[in-house]
Amino acid sequence: MPIYDFKCEKCGHTFSVLTSYQERDRVVCPQCRSKDVRQLISACAVRTKGGGCSTGSAGAGSGSGAWRGG
Ligand SMILES: [Zn+2]
Repeated sequence: MPIYDFKCEKCGHTFSVLTSYQERDRVVCPQCRSKDVRQLISACAVRTKGGGCSTGSAGAGSGSGAWRGG
């Protein structure tokens, strides 16, 4: 099973979950049990120290990221 990265919109906690593609919609924050989590793009070509990975469409300067939809 693949590992998906999530970020809790409630407490800001980031975590990884080893789950199936279907089950990833049922992920809850392990810290505050909130279901308001957002999946991060794990297909990050460059991983900087500290997890600096630009995701999202807004603010993306030189678009070199390969977005492969789910
Ligand atoms: Zn949380």
